[in-house]
Amino acid sequence: MKRIFVTGGAGYIGSHVVKALGERGYDVLTYDNLSTGHREAVLHGELIIGDLEDGALLRRTLEQFRPDAVIHFAAHIEVAESVSNPLKYYRNNTLNALNLLDALREQGIGRFIFSSTAAVYGIPEHIPVTEDAPLAPINPYGASKMMSERLLADLSAAQDGFDYVALRYFNVAGADAQNRIGQNYRNATHLITRALKTAKGEYPKLQIFGCDYPTDDGTCIRDYIHVDDLAAAHLAALDYLAGGGTSAIFNCGYGHGYSVREVVDVAKQVTGVDFTVEEASRRAGDPPALVADSGKLRERTGWAPQHDDLDFIVRTAWEWEKRLG
Ligand code: UDP
Repeated sequence: MKRIFVTGGAGYIGSHVVKALGERGYDVLTYDNLSTGHREAVLHGELIIGDLEDGALLRRTLEQFRPDAVIHFAAHIEVAESVSNPLKYYRNNTLNALNLLDALREQGIGRFIFSSTAAVYGIPEHIPVTEDAPLAPINPYGASKMMSERLLADLSAAQDGFDYVALRYFNVAGADAQNRIGQNYRNATHLITRALKTAKGEYPKLQIFGCDYPTDDGTCIRDYIHVDDLAAAHLAALDYLAGGGTSAIFNCGYGHGYSVREVVDVAKQVTGVDFTVEEASRRAGDPPALVADSGKLRERTGWAPQHDDLDFIVRTAWEWEKRLG
């Protein structure tokens, strides 16, 4: 397996995977409509600016490139927006996945890695969460990804020679240690990014959404994974499929979490800025704790994290934030 087609390779996670693929000597082709991605984030291979809704361009591109495997990132990811505009999510995340799978089936491309999310679990009953926990998403974003996973499972059962890995991401954060790429969204809502932008003065204060959760300090706990470790999980998944691995679903996290207050403390230490923090009411749809059991990924693929260190995660994100200006 040498030639990898990456949808959404100009986005935050996609660009770190494209970087890692390039470093490992793969031929990479990125297909991205640049709706939220950035041309300069694609560090290796060619970028085709295209939409997954453009079936003709997609098929032409695939025919010319003849990939051995496809990694599919292109999707919308904002939970709140998915609640107010659900059809946008089902169209872009579910229907476009179906269109892509149709094109791959026509061309006999049978190896597929899918960006999924811990949001498919909704509010899990047991922590850490294993892959066989019930799927009960509480917003259209999670549902759109769950439906795509179902498409993949059914297709894989029906079609010999089609195998996929769905990676369920927990809280992805941090940036390239060489500070070339990082998260670059217009209205970032994620905790670490918001905290750093507050330290930079972009926002007057950081709100903590809920201090009355049943956790040690009352704030929500999340499993923060460095984006380069997540990128490495994709390469491990490729190796797994290349080695004859059958379709599988893997959680991607470190297996332990930090509270919102702990993250805020690290952000203050790293930036040296004692920014204003306000205790606010709960945000709708936040589970109290979300921590991955990633034992299956480790055992089946040999993946082992290199950056299980909140300080490193926040430091790399901070360097990148400063570069964004
Ligand atoms: N959070 C917060 N203030 C913010 C952004 C997030 O208190 O400005 C909290 C949020 O309620 C959740 C945790 O931080 O408990 C992680 O939220 P994030 O949006 O980063 O990721 P999610 O877990 O929702 O995917």
